[in-house]
Amino acid sequence: MIAEIAVDLAAIARNADALARLVAPARLTAVVKANAYGHGLVAVARALAPHAARLCVYELDEAVVLRDAGIDAPVHVLGPIAPGDLDVAHAADVQVTLWDRDLYARQVASVARRRGRPFAVHAKIETGVVRLGLTPDEAPDALARYAATPEFALVGAFTHLAAAEEIDSGFTLQQLARFDAATRALDPRIERHAAATAAAVLWPETRLSAVRCGIGLYGIWPSSESATPMRARGLELEPALTWRTRIVALHAIDEGTSVGYGRTWHAGRRALIATLPIGYAEGLPRAAGNAAHVLVRGTRVPLVGRVCMDMAFADVTDVTDVGVGDAVTLIGTDGAARIDAEELAAACGTIGYEVVARLPAHVPRTFSETR
Ligand SMILES: *Cc1c(COP(=O)(O)O)cnc(C)c1O
Repeated sequence: MIAEIAVDLAAIARNADALARLVAPARLTAVVKANAYGHGLVAVARALAPHAARLCVYELDEAVVLRDAGIDAPVHVLGPIAPGDLDVAHAADVQVTLWDRDLYARQVASVARRRGRPFAVHAKIETGVVRLGLTPDEAPDALARYAATPEFALVGAFTHLAAAEEIDSGFTLQQLARFDAATRALDPRIERHAAATAAAVLWPETRLSAVRCGIGLYGIWPSSESATPMRARGLELEPALTWRTRIVALHAIDEGTSVGYGRTWHAGRRALIATLPIGYAEGLPRAAGNAAHVLVRGTRVPLVGRVCMDMAFADVTDVTDVGVGDAVTLIGTDGAARIDAEELAAACGTIGYEVVARLPAHVPRTFSETR
C-alpha cells in the first residue's frame, strides 16, 4: 500500500455535537461535499446523519452515492444540477438549489409536474460573494413566485458569506442585512440559513434557522487567524484524519549532492535521503517540496527537493534507526509530534480545505471510532 488515510468517525461526530451545541437553537446541517473534505463521503455521511438535520453536497452525483449507500437523511445539493439530470435528482429525493426565475426554475418545475410530486427547493440569494444567487432586488419577487409554485416545496432561503473569518470586518453584517431585506416577506416557517463554520462560531447573529458547517466537522479551522477567536468562543475541535505513507528507499549521499528534479536542494552535509512513494498525483502539493515537514519515528523532518508526480524526498539524516518501510506521517500524530492539515497547507501556501479536499478518492480510507 502506497499511502493510507485513517479517519476517526467518532471525532467527527463529537465535532458535530460541539458545533450543534454552540449554535442551538439553530440547527446544524453537515457539508460533506468534496468526498467529505477528503475524509470519505459515505462513511462520514453515515456517521454524521444522526448528528445533523441535513447533509449538504455540491453535486448531484454525491447525493446519488449517498442514496445508493442507503442513507435516507435529507440531502441538499448546493450546486447546479444539469437539466438532463433533474429526473435523477427527483428520484433521489434531493433538495435542489434555485437561483433564477426563468429557464432553470421552469425546468425544475416541469420535472416535478411530470413526476407528480413537488421538488424540495432552497432559494439562493447572492449578497456579496458574486457566485450564485438571486440579487437582493429580485429575490422578494422570486421567492414569492417559488412559494406560489405548486411544483415547489420551498424548504429554505440561503446565502453565503464572503468574509466571516474576519472578525473586525463589517462586511458580514452588511451581507446579513441584504439577506434580511431580501427574505423579510418570507413565511417564518421557511428556513433561512447563511453561516458556514466560521460565521456559525464567530457571528452568532448569522445562525438564523440553520448553519451549514463543513470544515469544522473535520476538526480543521477555517483559517489560522480564526482558530484563536473560535476557541475563545468555547469551541474545541478534534482533527479526524491521519495520512501516512512509508519509506520505499534510503540513499546515503555526500555533501553537495543534489536531490530531485531541477536540483533545487543540495545536501549541506553527508545526508540520508528517504524516497516517499507519493507525489502531487497522490495529493501532496508540489509546493510542499523544500517547504513542508513530515514525521518519521516521531521526528519532524523536512521534505527536500521538488515533489514529483508520484514520489517525494525527506531528509532523514537526524532520525535514529530509520529504515525502509518506516511510516511517514504527512498529517497526524507520531509519538509526541504532530502535523495538522493546517500546518501542511500553510507550508504549501494554501489552506487546510484545499489539502484535504484534494486527497485522492482512490487512496484507501480506514475508519475507526475512538472512545
Ligand atoms: C462549502 C460550503 C459550506 C461549508 O463551509 P465551511 O467553511 O467548510 O464550513 C457552506 N455553504 C456553502 C454554500 C458551501 O459551499
